[in-house]
Amino acid sequence: MSTNLSVNLDLIRKYNVAGPRYTSYPTALQFTEEFDRKDIETQIDENNKEATPLSLYFHLPFCETLCWFCGCTTVISSDHSRTDPYLDHLEKEMQITSPLINKEREVIQMHFGGGSPNYLSPAQIRRLGKNIHENFHFAPDAELSVELDPRRLTKDHIDAFNEMGINRASIGIQDFNPKVQEAVNRIQPKEVSDQAIAWIREAGYQSLNIDLIYGLPYQTAESFQETLNLALESKPDRFAIFSYAHVPWMKPAQKLFKVLPDPETKLEMLKRTIETLTSNGYTYIGMDHFAREDDELAIAQRKKTLQRNFQGYSTRGGADIYGFGMSSISQTNAHYRQNHKTLPSYYAAIEKGELPISKICTLTTDDFIRRETIMRLMCDLELNYQNLSHLLKIDFKDYFSNEIASFENEEADGLITSNSEGITVTDNGRLLIRNLAMRFDAYLNSSENRFSRTI
Ligand code: SF4
Repeated sequence: MSTNLSVNLDLIRKYNVAGPRYTSYPTALQFTEEFDRKDIETQIDENNKEATPLSLYFHLPFCETLCWFCGCTTVISSDHSRTDPYLDHLEKEMQITSPLINKEREVIQMHFGGGSPNYLSPAQIRRLGKNIHENFHFAPDAELSVELDPRRLTKDHIDAFNEMGINRASIGIQDFNPKVQEAVNRIQPKEVSDQAIAWIREAGYQSLNIDLIYGLPYQTAESFQETLNLALESKPDRFAIFSYAHVPWMKPAQKLFKVLPDPETKLEMLKRTIETLTSNGYTYIGMDHFAREDDELAIAQRKKTLQRNFQGYSTRGGADIYGFGMSSISQTNAHYRQNHKTLPSYYAAIEKGELPISKICTLTTDDFIRRETIMRLMCDLELNYQNLSHLLKIDFKDYFSNEIASFENEEADGLITSNSEGITVTDNGRLLIRNLAMRFDAYLNSSENRFSRTI
């Protein structure tokens, strides 16, 4: 059930430090370019011995203009002729990869991210859908989702995605206020967002997510509340409400922001967001995600079947992720593999007939144990020592005795409760879940300064 959360700002102030988002553990900072190509095929071969279902990710990086806050790996271009060569290479990548994968394995999940997947024309979307279905077969109830940019969307795009089976959409709105939109180089009148939502609803998609961002130039607690109220009128099934991550050393366009809300205003926006959404029937899942009580995400959290991966929270666990396209990441049981992050290097690898992988991470037994612990904590909001001992084949309490003992302050501050059976995250603790997860991260001291702040 959703609970109305009242947010304690003092606690957030106290614990607000830089930290990873844990869409993977170890994080991308631990990936290495040193690996033997032959090992990759061996890894995939090993992975095929168990007929685990598949989750496919396609990175479609093109956008016409850059939103200055953007942290994604994009190709900004108004030249749409660049997309056909990209689709040619995606097709070749599937042809190189799919013969390595056991044909018995069903796709239970697929996601198109970017960039803007609807930068492609409807005809190109149909072509991509056909190629994917030629290379993989899908479970009848597969969860297929797409990120859409309402500014370039047409009804024909929605129909084209629908024809390949897409049944969930996520649309970027970020903020309705024209002054904020101008300051971030993303002009998107409300009617444009409303039209996109109407088409998605008409097409019968099972779930609609709206993305908003707080912490952008000219936002105030009041103006963001207004954005939130307008977004609520559309009754989306989910919200992803991100804290703007200011990392100009990685994303130079962010240097264009001359005014940003101060940390106190940002905290007030977060407080209002959580209080507004939880009092309007949304469950706070954790990190940046909210879902209606009857949405699969909220149900999965209650049933403790929620998962966390490169796309954030997910309801389909136990699948191996195969990523396609520039910069995408694949995840099989003990390995992460990341594709080249630029078009020329991605194209060059494919043209050599190689899997276009530039970095990998092979998990040690300790990494594996810590990954499962962090993921269970972030998804279930508890750690049950007995269950985890069984799952991880260790004496959990003994293995993590230092980490468990180190939660003294968090317990005194009411972020967790604990007893001999385990740790439970409180409502206040949900907000600071990544701080709690950080306690189990063995790599943190060396990489702490590379991350944005938790809030
Ligand atoms: S449309 Fe999305 S991916 Fe493209 S620049 Fe804007 S925020 Fe980034």
